[in-house]
Amino acid sequence: MYRKFFSYYKPHKRLFVIDFSSAIIVAVLELFFPLAVQWFIDKLLPTGDWGMIVQVSVLLLLVYALSTLLNFIVNYLGHKLGINIETDMREELFTHVQRQSFRFFDNTKTGHIMSRITNDLFDIGEFAHHGPEDLFIAIMTFIGAFAIMFNVNPTLALIAVGMVPFLAWLVTFSNIKMNNAWKTMYGKIADVNGRVEDSVSGVRVVKSFTNEAFEIERFQEQNGFFRSAKLYAYKIMAGTHSSIYMMTRLLTLVVLVVGAWLSFNGKLSYGELVSFVLYTNVLIKPIDKISALLELYPKGMAGFKRFRELVEQAPEIQDRPNAQVVSHLNGDIAFHQVDFHYDTSKTVLEDISFDVRAGQTIAFVGPSGAGKTTICSLIPRFYEVSSGAITIDGIDVRDMTQASLRDQIGIVQQDVFLFTGTIRENIAYGKLGASEEAIREAAKKAHLEAFIAELPDGYDTQIGERGLKLSGGQKQRLAIARMFLKNPPILILDEATSALDTETEMIIQQSLTELAENRTTLVIAHRLATIRNADRVLVVTPNGIEEDGTYDELVAQNGIFAKLHHIQFRKGQAAQEYV
Ligand code: ADP
Ligand code: MG
Repeated sequence: MYRKFFSYYKPHKRLFVIDFSSAIIVAVLELFFPLAVQWFIDKLLPTGDWGMIVQVSVLLLLVYALSTLLNFIVNYLGHKLGINIETDMREELFTHVQRQSFRFFDNTKTGHIMSRITNDLFDIGEFAHHGPEDLFIAIMTFIGAFAIMFNVNPTLALIAVGMVPFLAWLVTFSNIKMNNAWKTMYGKIADVNGRVEDSVSGVRVVKSFTNEAFEIERFQEQNGFFRSAKLYAYKIMAGTHSSIYMMTRLLTLVVLVVGAWLSFNGKLSYGELVSFVLYTNVLIKPIDKISALLELYPKGMAGFKRFRELVEQAPEIQDRPNAQVVSHLNGDIAFHQVDFHYDTSKTVLEDISFDVRAGQTIAFVGPSGAGKTTICSLIPRFYEVSSGAITIDGIDVRDMTQASLRDQIGIVQQDVFLFTGTIRENIAYGKLGASEEAIREAAKKAHLEAFIAELPDGYDTQIGERGLKLSGGQKQRLAIARMFLKNPPILILDEATSALDTETEMIIQQSLTELAENRTTLVIAHRLATIRNADRVLVVTPNGIEEDGTYDELVAQNGIFAKLHHIQFRKGQAAQEYV
């Protein structure tokens, strides 16, 4: 795990070396500063040589300047290192998630993926920057300071160091307590967020029951909990700061008093006394740093472990080593005794066999949950068949690369997903890099032109989250335009018009029929009127494909399809009588 962790430093080796060596130089300069003061008081002052004092001061000024510069480098480049590592990991994670198969997304919560890609990585970046560097510097400073102090006066050095464990305990203990307090506070603010989300997204219900006062009361309660939690955290923080302040002053005072006594007995010079007082401050710093690391380390490593878990999860469906790139398929699709289950507990498809000839339109009807969508998602290999095989033009879909296979298939579903962006960008999603001409041609074929012409910004009109809201029919037209642009030989229409009202459905149906021309088309339909012209109809039930024939043949068969037909037909007539 650690080796893996440090491998992320590799691309930024230079940055790491500059940062680390600067940090070491800063630490060494800081370590020797009290010695310089000691020398200044004991050796330089007695000479009374003002010129020399000025010279030494100038030298010290230069050293300070260097130290300042290096400090800037450490602060800036150190964080840069952390951010670079964080960015690399984020990119790796996003790339990896993009490559995952459908099953992964079925089984993983979106919020989960989001927090892995954002928050988890913050902690890793912070730790990557501070972890190794601070640990090394802290140990080095502590040992260095102690060694120098011991060299100057062993008794006083031991007394000063003897008090360190108390300080270390205090700092660590307070940090743990503070951590818990912050964690509670974060929990409470999440509760406040939850309340706000609930009340705002449910505002129509709130208003219709005139329950605003109740909502406000509930909010006030949560807000109050949050206030108490944050106040408590600040109280702990204030207490921690004061007690650490007191401990360090106490340490300085003890050193001062014992030092004074030693000095009276001629065992310590004034310069040495001053440098000792300064060294007690040097000793305290590493303790602070290490205790901060104690907090950062578990957070960072836990984040890293979660990150690796995700990254090491191989995509379920992968291209075979000898998979071929298919450049154009005719669209002869055949299922050969296909079995399929999403999870082992329940078989969704069993022994499904059928074939569609190139250019035909074939319709699937049947009760919801029978497996129609599932059948269609096996063709682009979104899921892998459990047994049996699916071939297109006689080639097993598993022997094609996923990318080239999916390039040949277009899918229009009930919900059209529009990305935040312009109308043009959303159409162009069907074929990235398509020319303006091709995009306009596609829009024209989808009968979107008149609509776009009326928009204030035309093709540049923003849609999605913060832009224009499109109606269901307009969304479908956009999806159809995407498909005209993609122009695949195989088309799957999965209840594409089911969410639309009957009138809009009729209009969209016209476009879909045009889209289906010269393509092998699989239609899943709810309303039978939309599949009147299909070459064949398959009735899918939980028992498999129960009926197979033309529309009229199936009506004549007097089976499941005939029943469906009669129900819808009667309904249709009733509706017409009403008008
Ligand atoms: P249809 O499209 O005919 O309504 P589906 O193909 O969507 O039916 O679903 C067939 C069965 O598979 C249903 O029982 C459904 O609950 C189940 N199912 C569909 N999608 C998934 C999935 N992603 N994970 C697990 N089970 C699923
Ligand atoms: Mg379905």
